[in-house]
Amino acid sequence: MANESANDTARNIGPVILLGPPGAGKGTQAKQIADRYEVPQIATGDLLRDHVGRGTELGLEAAAIMARGELVPDELMYGIVATRLREANCQRGYVLDGFPRTAAQAGWLDAFLEKEVFEKKSEKSQKCPPVVIQLLVDYTELLLRLTGRRSCPTCGRLYNIHFQPPLVDELCDVDESKLVIRNDDREEVISGRLAAYETETKPVADYYRAQRRLVAVNADRPMEDVTAEIFGVIDSHCKDSHCQGGC
Ligand code: AMP
Repeated sequence: MANESANDTARNIGPVILLGPPGAGKGTQAKQIADRYEVPQIATGDLLRDHVGRGTELGLEAAAIMARGELVPDELMYGIVATRLREANCQRGYVLDGFPRTAAQAGWLDAFLEKEVFEKKSEKSQKCPPVVIQLLVDYTELLLRLTGRRSCPTCGRLYNIHFQPPLVDELCDVDESKLVIRNDDREEVISGRLAAYETETKPVADYYRAQRRLVAVNADRPMEDVTAEIFGVIDSHCKDSHCQGGC
């Protein structure tokens, strides 16, 4: 299996876009895709948190918006996403987790990818059209996933007190640090995040559905089953697409 992965999967896959509400498992599935196809996982939430942590101008502007569970304005997002997608390790492809989150961002991304192909004709990965995967999850299940999410401030390990609890309540199994709740996973913020998803992000799915580029995957299943289906979608997308990058 490991050999098969090394030979068959470290090739151009182009952009993979994961859509779904907060708590749908985008981060988890993005990591699986990144590991299998050896492409970077680009989570815009992480890029923003990095700016907040470093106290950059953008970070200062984004911090209050993120703490309220609202979306950071599109214009701020375009700069950080464009910079990241132009990095060398994005040439064979990448997994976008958390972007695009509005129809305007989806339109911007299409225009960006087309412009990059035009300007850098030799770069193979850009010729792969994006594969867009929507993770579908039941609302009640989502609330449990989000309100139960905890992480270790020392080693970063993730838990869920409902589904993957630590051995000892609220303590990390690895280093016994007290687990923390991410600021935007607090109950009062979660309803805002889900409302933002409903009103702003559903049009993204509609945008890709209208172009027949949306593949829906039932994510109310064990993680491994969801991952297997996603790999199948990516593999058949690469076979079907007319990409000339060697997919
Ligand atoms: P996430 O880690 O993906 O849940 O993102 C955390 C927060 O970062 C979100 O609640 C938003 O405030 C902000 N954010 C992340 N990605 C985007 C995006 N594509 N557009 C606007 N805001 C975003």
